Amino acid sequence: MALITKSVKGTQDALPKDIHKLQYIEGVILDKVTSHGYKEIRVPVFEHTELFQRGVGDTTDVVQKEMYTFDDKGGRSITLRPEGTAGVVRSFLEHGLFNEPLPQKLCYFISCYRYEKPQSGRLREFHQFGCECLGTASPAADAELIAMVSGIFDELGISDLHLEINSIGCPKCRKHYHEALKEYFSARKDELCPTCLGRLERNPMRILDCKSPICSEIAKGAPKVTDFLCEECRDHFEKTKKYLDAMDITYTVNPSIVRGLDYYTKTVFEFVSDKIGAQGTVCGGGRYDGLVEEIGGPSTPSLGFAMGIERLLMVMEAQGAEFPEVAPCNIFLASMGDEANIKSAQLAKELRSIGVAAEFDIVGRSVKAQMKYANKLGAEYTAVIGESELDSGKVKVKNMKTGAETELGIDENFDDSFLQLVFADSFATGE
Ligand code: ATP
Ligand code: MG
Repeated sequence: MALITKSVKGTQDALPKDIHKLQYIEGVILDKVTSHGYKEIRVPVFEHTELFQRGVGDTTDVVQKEMYTFDDKGGRSITLRPEGTAGVVRSFLEHGLFNEPLPQKLCYFISCYRYEKPQSGRLREFHQFGCECLGTASPAADAELIAMVSGIFDELGISDLHLEINSIGCPKCRKHYHEALKEYFSARKDELCPTCLGRLERNPMRILDCKSPICSEIAKGAPKVTDFLCEECRDHFEKTKKYLDAMDITYTVNPSIVRGLDYYTKTVFEFVSDKIGAQGTVCGGGRYDGLVEEIGGPSTPSLGFAMGIERLLMVMEAQGAEFPEVAPCNIFLASMGDEANIKSAQLAKELRSIGVAAEFDIVGRSVKAQMKYANKLGAEYTAVIGESELDSGKVKVKNMKTGAETELGIDENFDDSFLQLVFADSFATGE
């Protein structure tokens, strides 16, 4: 009984009272990335399980422990997307977008699903905004992407996020690094958690990303990836930093960032807050030069990022950020009697067609109750239409803030005269 009125553990609702915050954040983000040439792509919530095994990597926590996987009624193994990149790359290949001018700059707002232990900043259904820039190997692209994310946070007025960058090299330099890691961790084999013990052979870099306190303590003393970069990767990293410096982007190099997903190469980065507790990474991303090929496409060096919308909201709320709110009701047209109610329906339609948020009584309340409701809505103006207004063709429109009343004709161009009144009032108050 109680179950059906309670959301599933690790999921949450976004309620109408908070929705303006999300809409504001989404608007700012979309404006910013559009100015960088990104176009939205919408992909399915679920994909073939194999896509994530290949794309995210089967030595990752996400694939090993966190996926919502099930067989559908046709016997296919299906997985609810734990992240966005794999699905977008699948779509890029399926629709031959690699034949379009490159780079393809794609962005998305999505829900993601991971079976994790729910806690502050960690949900089982959460939301991401992500971008993928497919088809460029240049460090200029790394810097453009990072600067764009930084620009989003600036635009949202977020001050307490810091940027950490690293390079985790390419498969060539990774080989030597893996050997060094194997040697280091093998010496402390007995202390590693069972999952990391399994990773020691197949992907020792994953141990650096383990959340268990003992493994992460051991990882602190591990060899640093930046000491193993080949010349090309080192050069790429240096150039990326040069671009960032030129664009005035502040960062620190943190050699322990490896990111949780297998597909990353060269540049990786995170935007981290220390104001929202242990789950402080708001945005993570980097280069994934081998992923498109891994999924069966042509060699397509690429990069991207994803930011967690719930964590972003937490950072903004912790900082006391302002979220502009659109007035839910510009004018409430109260009415007395059936005929007046029909007139207010007509007027509301007229006003709405020019973008005014207009309301009238659709409940059948008394005028007094209608006015009470208008107040609760926060109506900026009200008007009461009764028999005498219908006869005279005129109604008094009241500015609820100043109390001033202005008579407007209701038989013709009510929408225009209302707009003029609003402009005159806002001019008078300097708003
Ligand atoms: P974490 O280290 O916090 O587990 P991650 O490396 O698994 O993060 P990514 O896969 O890079 O995260 O996802 C990008 C962003 O999505 C994260 O930086 C975070 O803001 C958000 N995110 C990831 N997992 C969750 C979750 N379970 N609940 C809420 N937000 C999440
Ligand atoms: Mg994670």
